Amino acid sequence: MLTSLVLHLTVDPSSIADPSFIVDPSSIDTTFIKLKSAADFMGFSRFRDGGLVGFHVITPQSDFDDYPMVSSLIDVDTRWWKVDMVRSIFLPFEASTILKIPLNYNLPEDSLIWIGNKRGVFYVKSAYHIALSFVDSNEEGECSSPDPRTALWKRIWRLKIPQKLKIFTWRSCVNGLPTMLNLSQRGIHCSGFCPICDKALESTAHALLLCDHAKLTWAHWLNCPFEITSSPRDLVDVALDFNENGSPLDLELFFALAWSIWWNRNQATHENSGINLDQVWERANRLLSEYKNACSLPTLSLAPSPSAWQVPPLGVFKINTDGAASDGYPSCIGVAIRDYRGSLLAASSKILAAPFSAEITEALVLQEGVLLALDLGISHAIIESDALSIIQAITDGVLGGVVGHIVQNIKDLSSSFSWCSFQL
Ligand SMILES: [Zn+2]
Repeated sequence: MLTSLVLHLTVDPSSIADPSFIVDPSSIDTTFIKLKSAADFMGFSRFRDGGLVGFHVITPQSDFDDYPMVSSLIDVDTRWWKVDMVRSIFLPFEASTILKIPLNYNLPEDSLIWIGNKRGVFYVKSAYHIALSFVDSNEEGECSSPDPRTALWKRIWRLKIPQKLKIFTWRSCVNGLPTMLNLSQRGIHCSGFCPICDKALESTAHALLLCDHAKLTWAHWLNCPFEITSSPRDLVDVALDFNENGSPLDLELFFALAWSIWWNRNQATHENSGINLDQVWERANRLLSEYKNACSLPTLSLAPSPSAWQVPPLGVFKINTDGAASDGYPSCIGVAIRDYRGSLLAASSKILAAPFSAEITEALVLQEGVLLALDLGISHAIIESDALSIIQAITDGVLGGVVGHIVQNIKDLSSSFSWCSFQL
């Protein structure tokens, strides 16, 4: 299939009866193309301007008096296209493309020419590079009409909110929260009904927007720019409203409050210790304000001026880890694993059992990242953290101190990778 897409053709106009193509080494060094004997004018569908790869003719096929060979378009006297005929047959942009195809004045024998390299010799390597160019051009084409959700995902990852909140946000938007409905649909024995009100199936929208306790919590947001709970909508649809028409601060508060509602739902369901709805509202706002305050403080013992995030090489996965430690609150950790395109493969977040120090929290989240990657069967990994002291301990084999045993475990675990690198 690939070879049929990347051939240059040289065609002898005198051999109209023979629709085959013959290799012509003499024409390899040029990018010209001579066409004659494709079965009909739709033979152009094999070509594109320049490389003539993947060009699809959309001009409606016409009736011709004789067999409509491509060579019919070539004037054997002038050794050039029959310009008027081409323009009369094809749509203007297609005629323009065809007329840009240079012809070999010497009209050599029909031939097939491999354009993957200057020598015209087929190598898998050259086919690979051509295939990659197809992939790249297709991706560029997709970007020309962006999905609004793509913009939302990008906005979410840029929000100035804690990592655990980003991960919650992503999970809730891709219907990844363990709501009762999701659990029942995944074969876990439960009714699927909301554990809070027991009035409806607990979808993500019900849990975060439409359940009575959720509605009453949203009612605390007096100057909310959008109507959130009046009509049943997906969480993503509401988030798109915020993303397209609201401010970043509104979007942050929207997700923070959704997170707080979910947290309270879990406390009430699993711990029998939910808080009142005023506190749910306050908890969301406190989460944001504490994070912003922490971001404004100078960071100690962390890596200086982190550079922009870069995708890993092809075949390698990048594991980003981060932890949050705050006095009086259990530490939180988050892991995100992305591939060479930057696409998210997996993510994990946890509230740890205790308020650990920043150093221990960072060591634990690195360990969590390595474990998650090994669970996924990843063999080549870059593990990235902003904790300078932990990265140095791992790379230098420093196994003492309060995190020495965790570092030892990380080193032992990481020996299961075929290749891995720890970096800032
Ligand atoms: Zn409910």
